[in-house]
Amino acid sequence: MNILVINSGSSSIKYQLFKMPSPQPICTGLVERIGLANSVITHKSNVGGEEKSTKLIMDIEDHEKGMLEVGRLLMEPEIGVIQNPDEIEVVGHRVVHGGESFSKTTVITPEVKAEIKKLFPLAPLHNPGHYLGIDVAERIFAKATQVAVFDTAFHQTMPEKAFRYAIPNAFYTNYGIRVYGFHGTSHKYVNQEAVRYLGKPNAKIITIHLGNGCSMAAVDGGTCIDTSMGMTPLAGLIMGTRSGDIDPSVIFYLRTQFGYEVEQIDNLLNKQSGMYGLTGYNDLRDVRKMLQDGDPFAKLAYEMYAYRIKKYIGSYAAALNGLDAIVFTAGVGENDTLARELVCKDMDFLGLSLDQEKNISAASGIREINTADSRTKILVVPTNEELEIAIQCKELLDQETSNLP
Ligand code: ADP
Repeated sequence: MNILVINSGSSSIKYQLFKMPSPQPICTGLVERIGLANSVITHKSNVGGEEKSTKLIMDIEDHEKGMLEVGRLLMEPEIGVIQNPDEIEVVGHRVVHGGESFSKTTVITPEVKAEIKKLFPLAPLHNPGHYLGIDVAERIFAKATQVAVFDTAFHQTMPEKAFRYAIPNAFYTNYGIRVYGFHGTSHKYVNQEAVRYLGKPNAKIITIHLGNGCSMAAVDGGTCIDTSMGMTPLAGLIMGTRSGDIDPSVIFYLRTQFGYEVEQIDNLLNKQSGMYGLTGYNDLRDVRKMLQDGDPFAKLAYEMYAYRIKKYIGSYAAALNGLDAIVFTAGVGENDTLARELVCKDMDFLGLSLDQEKNISAASGIREINTADSRTKILVVPTNEELEIAIQCKELLDQETSNLP
């Protein structure tokens, strides 16, 4: 089954083509700077075992032109992997916000599109780009089944006590103000991988996704019961450029005492804060370099970053009433040995004991980095959101086919 996975942003389209059930994409690519001069397309394909890479610079005025170029590259005689667009059987779209309307992966119909549009106010930076991507893919890959995979869906199992804010009920019922949570595709994927590794389907697991955006989930036997991001991705952990949890009164204080506009505060908390605000760098590799050079701000930033994660581990262990494993994933979680070390330090009361040699070893793939006598496992599980989207699309279509009379 040829499944094209698309992550369509406001000015970019990321794509991967899978020939399922193989987990290796036969083609990956990125269209950047859509709508700006000198857009860039980077396209990599694997033709008959040979890796081919292409980089194009051209003006791409809109998503339609961008997606047409993707289609053309997929079919190009030298580097192409298909002969015509009808060979794409499924297009799997990443959609950040599914609100309360979508608790699982869904075939896209006009009603589903209308619902995604209704959710624009909840995800103004993401859903409009996804919607455009769906619109265009429907025209270019007209024979394919279009499927939406929502970042919020995995968290829809949270109980009300976890997803509600303690503000008057009408704000939830009238405006949908509640915790939705994000990175759900990643949390679901790494949890499943960890469960398989542990051979324990009812395992109590805390998944820790540390990329540029950072979030955690408490997962009980495959069911998410809590997560650290909120109505938007701003809540919870300290991130690359986001502050994570902060007393909301800081916003009023900045407004009333210093005259900051709401847009400025939004920009401050989403784009100028987190590790960037504390050190001047959002990439932990740069912060680590500063730390090695003895920079005290970098030291403090690392300590704060890890401390916030530790506090969430403690609260999620309580929410789960037990803990079998914690799972580190995404750019920082998979690579940053110091972040993992600081998070796991002095956590023996929860049975967490890090094996420093295993922690710093250059091993790749799913691995255990706890000592042999650690009561609770510490795992590193590489995430793969695109593959998970392809897997979910395939499962959905297989299910629909088997339901046919
Ligand atoms: P995104 O959230 O954009 O999907 P990723 O999961 O790719 O991000 O994570 C990106 C971040 O991972 C980078 O900003 C950087 O902080 C971190 N990172 C990537 N590689 C390393 C590494 N080798 N060591 C430390 N941090 C890394």
